[in-house]
Amino acid sequence: MHTTRADLASDAPATTVRLAGNEMPFGPLPGVVEAIAGAAADAHRYPDPASVGLREALARRCGVTADRIVTGCGSAALFAHLVASVGGEVVHSWRSFEAYPMLAAAAGGTSVPVPVTPEHRHDLPAMAAAIGPRTRLVVVCNPDNPTGTASGRAELDRFVARVPSDVLVVVDEAYREFVTDPDVPDALAAYGDRPNVVVLRTLSKAWGLAGLRLGYLIAHPEVAAAVGKVVIPFSTNAVAQAAGLAALDAEVEMARRVAVVVAERERVAGELADLVPDVPPSQGNFLWLPVGEAAEHVGRACAAEGVLVRAYAGEGVRMTIGTPAQNDRFLAALRHALRTGR
Ligand code: PMP
Repeated sequence: MHTTRADLASDAPATTVRLAGNEMPFGPLPGVVEAIAGAAADAHRYPDPASVGLREALARRCGVTADRIVTGCGSAALFAHLVASVGGEVVHSWRSFEAYPMLAAAAGGTSVPVPVTPEHRHDLPAMAAAIGPRTRLVVVCNPDNPTGTASGRAELDRFVARVPSDVLVVVDEAYREFVTDPDVPDALAAYGDRPNVVVLRTLSKAWGLAGLRLGYLIAHPEVAAAVGKVVIPFSTNAVAQAAGLAALDAEVEMARRVAVVVAERERVAGELADLVPDVPPSQGNFLWLPVGEAAEHVGRACAAEGVLVRAYAGEGVRMTIGTPAQNDRFLAALRHALRTGR
């Protein structure tokens, strides 16, 4: 019997589950969709170049003045702007968010990677020791991507105290809203009064607006002004500004959605305990499976079952927490992948 296209299609999983991008599984809220439509109708007009309304709303939320906030085309772009504003060497953990070395290079900086500990955590003492005369910036990804591990208050206190005052400490809190461990400090609350501490946040993750590209940083006014000088005018577009404002108005709904994801994170982590050794506890909306050489096999096998996860060759697999049904699809695909070996 010949295999027809229809046969192949009937074997294919009904829907593809996307658990590879650390995105929220929920679409934008009705109020946000409405704001997007409203802004789209005015798309022939330039946006407010300084995002005044949005920066004021973010400033209120953060309890700071608006001159400490810069918005940009995703927090990744703001990281590049930060590097461009100070130049020099960027010390960061590795493996961590893979864009750090790329963005540092693109912005004219040099990247100094510092290996993580065997527990997949930032090695903060080694990072402090790696700071040299040319270092302008040191990045702490808290919680860390892709492992979900997070640095605690005491170790961060020691680290921040060791960093010279002319070196910026950038705390990337892209996943801050998913943190449940009370020992993991909110960097703004803990270190916001230090002029060399910069906090990076985004509306891509908990707020579920990855496609709109909207990030913000909170810094000392002089640092914020220096970053503002290298941001290309109008780079926070009008739709993103309107959607961001509407999203910030829906804080309660955001927190409710985050709670669903966090509960699922703990459930999936519990199920993984019997399947994959040494999955580190995660404070993000994703889990790290340190499967080493099996990473590519697991990634491919899950994809064959219609579940897209992120494989890091030779290291591990990162799965983003989705809806309960999507996570069950992942667990079934993973069990299958582990049974079929490499
Ligand atoms: N920082 C970290 C740690 C991330 O994981 C990501 C996105 N994967 C970003 C920053 C970039 O987010 P944005 O969409 O705001 O550019």
